[in-house]
Amino acid sequence: MTARSLRAVLPAPRPHWVGDGFLVSPLFGDLAFSEAISPFLMLDWAPEHHFPPAPAARGVGPHPHRGFETVTIVHAGEVVHRDSAGHGGRIGPGDVQWMTAGGGLEHEEMHADALHRDGGPVSMAQLWVNLPSRSKRVPPRYQPILATEIPVIDAPDHRLRLVAGDFADRRGPAATHTPLTVIDGHLAAGAALAPTFPDGWTVLIAVLDGEVSVAGRSVTGPAVAVLDRRGDTVPLAAHGDAHVLLLAGEPIDEPIAHMGPFVMNTREELIEAVADWRAGRMGRLD
Ligand code: MN
Repeated sequence: MTARSLRAVLPAPRPHWVGDGFLVSPLFGDLAFSEAISPFLMLDWAPEHHFPPAPAARGVGPHPHRGFETVTIVHAGEVVHRDSAGHGGRIGPGDVQWMTAGGGLEHEEMHADALHRDGGPVSMAQLWVNLPSRSKRVPPRYQPILATEIPVIDAPDHRLRLVAGDFADRRGPAATHTPLTVIDGHLAAGAALAPTFPDGWTVLIAVLDGEVSVAGRSVTGPAVAVLDRRGDTVPLAAHGDAHVLLLAGEPIDEPIAHMGPFVMNTREELIEAVADWRAGRMGRLD
């Protein structure tokens, strides 16, 4: 076993609104959409925000995606999803929505009715996961993953929810296109653990809340620790209650071309995506 060393700590950028429903901080900062964090692309973190009652649902109206997956992990509140491929769903605290945009769709992400009628807190994370070129045009897919379906690795001082991947002899429910692991974890004061991921993989520890020592360096959330790809174990210690996402995956060794809601391999494919969307070839959300 070789402990990984810390490559960088990314402080949280200033929050911005996505639509009128999500006040998020893009935690990968300057490394978003770069090879350094492949297969991950982007991570928007919305810490708990209390919304007063409103006459209509807040959220993000219809917009397209192509070439990657969006993974929404809800911690507070309830979000309703609807897309042009005919998928839809409602996810609440602890639930995860794993959406494969693949060849393209339009979708909307809104607060649930009760939330805009009565008001209430919203907290969620949305991770964007890249697809390899061979999967960038697969049919759109929607995996609703309820909290009750997520294996929990429970210890006196930590609780890890395995959303995707193999970890500690368990397997997360999400089907993925490349090998990767997504864990939503809570650490208690005094927790010390050393999760292991394959040598050569990207490993990112997103400290959403609290303070965690990562490979010997104290990281105060919200912030992301980027580990070296060499090695396997990641020494973690919590000084108090902490909420973390453990993200690990085999890098996709391909060019990344990104423009707004599209992530392809080349600029030509981005131009094609815009044209396809404008022509209605990704479907339309009524
Ligand atoms: Mn979206």
